[in-house]
Amino acid sequence: MASSRRHFLTRRGFCLCCVGATTFAATGGWLTPSQVFAEAREVVDLIRSEAAKAPIKIHNLRGNVSVLEGSGGNVAVLTGPDGKLLVDAGITASRPRIVEALASLSSDPIKHLINTHWHFDHADGNEWLHGEGATIIAHENTRKHLAMAKRVEGWNFNFPASPAGAIPTEVFATDRMIKINGATLTLRYYGPAHTDGDISVTFTDADILHTGDTYWNGIYPFIDYSTGGSIDGTIRATDANLMATTDRTVIIPGHGQPVSNRAELKDYRDMLVAIRENVATLKKQGRSLAETTAAKPTAAYDAKWGQFLIDPAFFTQLVYQGV
Ligand SMILES: [Zn+2]
Repeated sequence: MASSRRHFLTRRGFCLCCVGATTFAATGGWLTPSQVFAEAREVVDLIRSEAAKAPIKIHNLRGNVSVLEGSGGNVAVLTGPDGKLLVDAGITASRPRIVEALASLSSDPIKHLINTHWHFDHADGNEWLHGEGATIIAHENTRKHLAMAKRVEGWNFNFPASPAGAIPTEVFATDRMIKINGATLTLRYYGPAHTDGDISVTFTDADILHTGDTYWNGIYPFIDYSTGGSIDGTIRATDANLMATTDRTVIIPGHGQPVSNRAELKDYRDMLVAIRENVATLKKQGRSLAETTAAKPTAAYDAKWGQFLIDPAFFTQLVYQGV
């Protein structure tokens, strides 16, 4: 079981595969709440140390848009004479490999960076990218969170305030359009979803949607209740993503295999809704978190979705909190 799991993860290119497999093997796949807590405490350090050595894989899409995989969240890159535009910044420890990957795409300088939300695995690289010349654009709540010290309860981690160069300087409340490199980009606020500052980025002409962390392709998502996220907000954002796409749309998820589509997004929604209902039913019966986890409300979905950092027990906890 463990080896097929490891193979599965390697095939999909996740840099954290061995970590997840080891955790799963050590616990038999089901963690007690205290184990969940201990595991969560390590997530931030694990992501950082894995990014320090993981290779960056380039996926070329269309309309001069590519995705870089291997440094925290999936990073989209638009090239062209107006300079490169990045969607999300990855982890700072990956800088040399990101620089190399960007140089292989084109010699255009880096001019713009959009943060889909404030989490470190999407904004850790803000400071060095700003130093390279990027103007940072984000939702106003993302700037708010980056500008102050923040605790993420689900990770049991305290983040310090970001340095001045890492703070977005162009923010908006509902939506914003950007015309650059002959392309039109639409940035749209989801409302509270995975955090309270998530935005989508649509490359209109190329028909590509970057969903940020409202969508994790083929894996259970993290939900950050500490900064306004919830399971119901995540489901609402997923419905918005379905409304905004067709069968032709290329969908870039925040995490998971970086080139996705509407059929996979629909599977993700069905999984979220089914597990939400299972957990809500158990909670309404008066069951504690430990009792709810023991009832395995995610069981039908674990083989497909429970193979990454957010394992069945952790995801059950994240849903339980919001129903
Ligand atoms: Zn996130």
